[in-house]
Amino acid sequence: MSRLSEEFLVSAAHKSADLTHRSTIKRNISSYDAAVAKGKTRFADFEAARARAAQVKSEGIRNLASLLETFESKIIARGGHVYWAENSEDARQYICDVAQRNQVKTVVKSKSMVTEEIHLSPALEKLGMKVWETDLGELIVQLRHEPPYHIVTPAMHLTREQIRDLFREQMPDDMTGETHQELVATARRFLRRAFFAAEMGISGANFLVADAGLVAISTNEGNGRLTTSLPRVHVVVTGIEKVIPRLQDLGVLWPVLAATGTGQPITTYSTLIGGPTTADEIDGPEEFHVVLVDNGRTEVLADKAQQELLRCIRCGACLNICPVYRQVGGHTYQSTYPGPIGSALMPIFQSQQEYGHLSYACSLCTACNSVCPVKIKLSDHLLENRREYVAEGNAKISEKIGFSLFRWAAMSSTRFALFGWIGRKTLRAGLAMGISPHALGPLANWTKYRAMMDVPKDSFRDLWRKQNGNH
Ligand code: SF4
Repeated sequence: MSRLSEEFLVSAAHKSADLTHRSTIKRNISSYDAAVAKGKTRFADFEAARARAAQVKSEGIRNLASLLETFESKIIARGGHVYWAENSEDARQYICDVAQRNQVKTVVKSKSMVTEEIHLSPALEKLGMKVWETDLGELIVQLRHEPPYHIVTPAMHLTREQIRDLFREQMPDDMTGETHQELVATARRFLRRAFFAAEMGISGANFLVADAGLVAISTNEGNGRLTTSLPRVHVVVTGIEKVIPRLQDLGVLWPVLAATGTGQPITTYSTLIGGPTTADEIDGPEEFHVVLVDNGRTEVLADKAQQELLRCIRCGACLNICPVYRQVGGHTYQSTYPGPIGSALMPIFQSQQEYGHLSYACSLCTACNSVCPVKIKLSDHLLENRREYVAEGNAKISEKIGFSLFRWAAMSSTRFALFGWIGRKTLRAGLAMGISPHALGPLANWTKYRAMMDVPKDSFRDLWRKQNGNH
């Protein structure tokens, strides 16, 4: 068992017993559920929009290389720079070089999961730069020295009181009160100084529009626009899978993302950026870079069984619906992308050895499949990962023996009946002798938290025969 796998089990047990955590998550996800249910009713036909969104993303993935080249040529023609980063290290190095060349001391960032994935902030801080997250949730978790809890709502696990205490401690001069509005105003005052000081702004991208050569960014707090237009240098850090063919595709992707991400008709700020500022413009950066991060994505692209994972638009819907995520919370996964999408992606982006256990953090209820706006069949990918995990020799020896025995027994109805009979008899005898259910080996994980079920006197077959004869 890997270290991360052991830590997952310990943290999951701890978090599921933490009633404060559970009630905070329940409250926040309930308001999300209500907003999304309302958001979907705004569509004349949400299922048709969902099917179209899936089609557009699939088209982008099928033509990934040529669309990215078209996008690149348009950005370069406007005076921007495009860098193709093979992995995290490559991307970090390029961005650090740009920052050092521009003698950057302060960096402002708008929300970007790819920058989390490549561990960008620590690399910039190591060079002596001050890096500020400017999305409110991201700022809160940064001040707590925590990773984001959720891909859309990074501070979903915290109460207003916890945030008030944090702001009191970290921003005493900007505090004027503790209502929701006053806390937001506190962060706004605090961040204004960072925006005006920053020489470099770093953003992510929701979509890269190939035919127009534009970066599409959706935000709700206005921090995205300040990050991308105030500092002298703007760097977009994005996964290569974000490319879509046409500008008009945003007509379906923007509302579908907003509806499933937050329940809004469209996010408050929908921004399109195509390059550095021009002579006749007053706003915008003098230098503009787009870093296209691969970091395992071409491996997913090459794998026909897993390729559709690249359709993900990071709306967070699969996290919110997942019964496991709701119990164990985002930090338990210890991965950049938690929840079903993270459990499907992380073993491929990183390794089965390290993250393969996440594919088992799933009851295969398939709720995530039903909410995904781009129709990714997440449960199929988790099963595929489990196959890979076992094929790479990561399964426990006891599991291998157990499943081989089960397979052998299940291949013959006589053997299956015999094993069932032996199992029932042994279990009944053991319990009659007072053996504790906690000592039941693999069953102990069940009986640790639940009462032991009564062992039935008759098997299902016996009951069937009694009721239906030998049919
Ligand atoms: S897999 Fe689907 S539901 Fe999950 S974050 Fe991606 S787009 Fe949203």
